[in-house]
Amino acid sequence: MEYMDITSILEPLNPAQREAVTASPSALLVLAGAGSGKTRVLTHRIAWLVKVEQVSPQSILAVTFTNKAALEMRGRIEALLHLPTHGTWMGTFHGLAHRLLRRHAREAGLPEAFQIMDADDQYRLLRRLLKSLSLDEARWPPKQAQWFINAQKDEGRRAHHMVASHDPFERQLLRIYQAYEELCERSGLVDFAELLLRAHEFLREHADIRAHYLKRFRHVLVDEFQDTNAIQYAWLRLLTEAQDNLFVVGDDDQSIYGWRGAKVENIFRFQKDYPGHRLIRLEQNYRSTGNILSAANALIAHNEGRLGKTLWTAGGAGEPIAVYAAFNEQDEAYFVIERLRQWIHEGNRRSEAAILYRSNAQSRLFEEKLVAAGIPYRVYGGLRFFERAEIKDALAYLRLIANRHDDGSFERVVNTPTRGIGAKSLDTLREVARTRRCSLWEAASGLCADAGTPGRTRLLFTHFLQLIDGLAQETAGLPLYEQVKCVIEKTGLLGHYQKDKGEQAEARVENLEELVNAARLFDHEPQEDDALSPLTRFLAHAALEAGEGQADADEDCVQLMTLHSAKGLEFQLVFLAGMEEGLFPSLQSLEEAGRLEEERRLCYVGLTRAKRRLYLTYAESRRLYGRETYPRSSRFLREIPTEHLQEVRLRGAISGPPGPAPTPDAEGLSVGQGVRHAVFGEGIVLQSEGAGSQCRVQVKFAEVGVKWLMAGYAKLQSI
Ligand code: ATP
Ligand code: MG
Repeated sequence: MEYMDITSILEPLNPAQREAVTASPSALLVLAGAGSGKTRVLTHRIAWLVKVEQVSPQSILAVTFTNKAALEMRGRIEALLHLPTHGTWMGTFHGLAHRLLRRHAREAGLPEAFQIMDADDQYRLLRRLLKSLSLDEARWPPKQAQWFINAQKDEGRRAHHMVASHDPFERQLLRIYQAYEELCERSGLVDFAELLLRAHEFLREHADIRAHYLKRFRHVLVDEFQDTNAIQYAWLRLLTEAQDNLFVVGDDDQSIYGWRGAKVENIFRFQKDYPGHRLIRLEQNYRSTGNILSAANALIAHNEGRLGKTLWTAGGAGEPIAVYAAFNEQDEAYFVIERLRQWIHEGNRRSEAAILYRSNAQSRLFEEKLVAAGIPYRVYGGLRFFERAEIKDALAYLRLIANRHDDGSFERVVNTPTRGIGAKSLDTLREVARTRRCSLWEAASGLCADAGTPGRTRLLFTHFLQLIDGLAQETAGLPLYEQVKCVIEKTGLLGHYQKDKGEQAEARVENLEELVNAARLFDHEPQEDDALSPLTRFLAHAALEAGEGQADADEDCVQLMTLHSAKGLEFQLVFLAGMEEGLFPSLQSLEEAGRLEEERRLCYVGLTRAKRRLYLTYAESRRLYGRETYPRSSRFLREIPTEHLQEVRLRGAISGPPGPAPTPDAEGLSVGQGVRHAVFGEGIVLQSEGAGSQCRVQVKFAEVGVKWLMAGYAKLQSI
């Protein structure tokens, strides 16, 4: 039995991987390129510790990048160990920090019922705050304040740590940060960055509790280490005082969250801070075909600040990477759907195919075409279930039931559905809350008790307060899903959308019903912290899961996601869409120094998600931000050696790879020349750009005005 276990853990590994998995206690860094089995090493290491070193699963802390990755890791470990893993500390930094804070809310200076705000909640809170400070939104955009605050927290800086700068703009931002901290404190609200910062501060300041966890977590393992930020790293340092129990795997070439505070330098810091560490490199890639791997290697070689790694594959070269130059974005989506259809028709699983793109907005068109083609799909990080307006309304009611001082939730639902509480009454309420430094709930109670308040205002607020208090009483002790059901019915939320006849309202009703289902399923899941009320757990789950995908996880669907969310994943078939300058690399990255290399790493991540088939597509014209653009193909395309590429042409014809081929002019057309088009009629050529298959001409037609056309397809006749 024992022998069998060891074989099942070690057999599927190469010698370098085995060395890492079986290493004796010491800090250890596995530094290796994409698809070389880093995540596999991490999972097998955990299995090894449990089975062979007899380490209790309870004393392992494993950090992954997304909840999805954590789930997958649990699955893999359960399969290896034949042991359930719930209750173990495996999750994201945010999830784990949240768990610590829930356990030790009091010591961490938080109310028991503290609520988590997602990015959208935080944004709204800041907007309200700026308004209450009489700061003009145009001059002080809430987004910028949000960015500033999160960046400070990610670096471990509180407002009181910061010295007022000479720059008046920064001084104001600092004041906003201060006011924001006070407001969160008063309302029992915690944003994502706060989860990490708070957990770090509390561990640092409570030596006794830290000692407990230091003893408990004999092993700390981290995947995607290159994307940890300063506070996460500090957190890891606190939990690995003994220096011999931190096991990290990462790839500097896949560091793609620098824009959000991640520090690839943590790899160097690790090497300095853990002087006794071991470094293991993995060089064999098991994921992709030779063509895909060589293309990715060649691309990333264009970056300068690299640690440098070798990566090879024992597999064959496979097919070349297909490049498709679409006429416009519609044509691009059409092409992708056609290829997908073919793939599914050949008997492949839909979930083995992924469409990756640089920006979220690109998913819409693909979604439209997938719906039309009847192909099931799932978007990650796109339309987020827990972020939809009606779901947030329902959650706000639930949050208010759990914590009356949650001002954000109060504001959200006090007049949703409409109860006649006007903007003026709300202004008065805010003013009272501000002067008394109390929550909106307390301010409303005060107004209701005050004989000087106009009768109607008093009546309306009294109703609202009674509604919430009544719901709290009524739902106490009910199963979670009945609580949710009761709330959406009795608050009038469901009725409000049911009355509405529009298609969107119908979808909203369905979503609210889906929320009841989600609560029902959630109630059945094994729970890790039984001390918490199911409602509190559910609300935390909703905040932490937001943005990581949608319900109905079991169906076999095509996967749509941004390149950022694709990290760590792999698919047989990958489409990388929108390979255009200004889109990918993004416009911002072209303007800011250092960003281009991160963008290239993102492209490296994208290419290396593909196992067998890879398509790179771009559109020669694209509607972007409401305007027609004619982008150049991405430089990343041009950085891949042509021998790995093959251009797919519209009519199935296959030509050589794309590139700045120096063929002259617009199919023999010259500026000022008269032309005839089959549909648009007669016109004059105004200008042309590009060459060969990418040549475009601008023509002024007598009847339809000025148009840009692809010379190759427009079939213009000279007249
Ligand atoms: P990324 O950098 O993208 O996160 P990774 O280094 O974590 O990649 P894994 O996801 O662990 O790589 O592995 C890539 C693929 O190779 C997986 O399908 C994995 O099962 C497979 N693999 C890893 N090691 C081996 C091995 N020794 N033999 C066969 N297959 C392997
Ligand atoms: Mg991995």
